[in-house]
Amino acid sequence: MGLLARDQQTRKYFYMKPSDINQPSALSGRPKRGVPEGLWIRCSSCKASLFRKDVEERFHVCPECDHHFYMPTPERIDQLLDEDSFEEWFRDLKPCDPLGFKDRITYKERIQAEQAKTSLPDAAAVGRGFIRGRPVVVGITDFAFMAGSMGSVVGEKLTRAAEEATRLKLPLIIVSGSGGGARMQEGILSLMQMAKVSAALARHHKAGCLYISILTNPTMGGVAASFAFQGDITIAEPGALIGFAGKRTIWNTVRLELPEGFQTSEFLLQHGFVDRIVHRKNLRTEVAALVDYCEKR
Ligand SMILES: [Zn+2]
Repeated sequence: MGLLARDQQTRKYFYMKPSDINQPSALSGRPKRGVPEGLWIRCSSCKASLFRKDVEERFHVCPECDHHFYMPTPERIDQLLDEDSFEEWFRDLKPCDPLGFKDRITYKERIQAEQAKTSLPDAAAVGRGFIRGRPVVVGITDFAFMAGSMGSVVGEKLTRAAEEATRLKLPLIIVSGSGGGARMQEGILSLMQMAKVSAALARHHKAGCLYISILTNPTMGGVAASFAFQGDITIAEPGALIGFAGKRTIWNTVRLELPEGFQTSEFLLQHGFVDRIVHRKNLRTEVAALVDYCEKR
């Protein structure tokens, strides 16, 4: 499921729904992204009413205040990588339900609902591509699928991506958009992904390869506590929420009032956790420049 395809007219990537995969018209059809199709949207930051198309053409950035909206995986690939260069890996990895977990609904039902909603098989996509002609391995976690939380599939895909990058001696770029951290429905199996990905990244590092971590809104919990903060270079998009536990959790645990702007890209840049804040429109150029700079050392 979730086969990555290309719209023949717009040349953009999208995920086909399982029901569309065998349809002959699927490749020329309109992309379906699981978001409500309205002409107008309201900016959550400046409250302006925006023409959806204007926002999408600006890489999902508000034309009034530069607020960076959520960006779906296929569009992230389009924006970050050179045209037609992405080759997706390990897309047959699918989540299962080893614990038979049930909260309001069963985990199995939740997975099915999220897959139907997003057309994604799980919360991560990995593969190989080019950024302004430089070959790289790329991983992306997608907030739309269970808040981008790291279950076994996300952990396994990112681990394999790091291992392939090591084998091929290529730079690794991971774009994180995960509000959920580790996926509680998979219990310890999701927690162990933190260590597993970290170990693969350590081997990538030991082999002398470059890892650039790109933090987007939001990057929290177990994702922030593992691969997202292990980059040789850490880039953040402006205004992203980045941290471990949320404000309310911190207050409930240690009764600590947090400073203004705590857990934003700007605050983390000031305090040395982030190396650079980069506007989405400049991301491809900046990453290409960093790859060049580091490869020429
Ligand atoms: Zn705005």
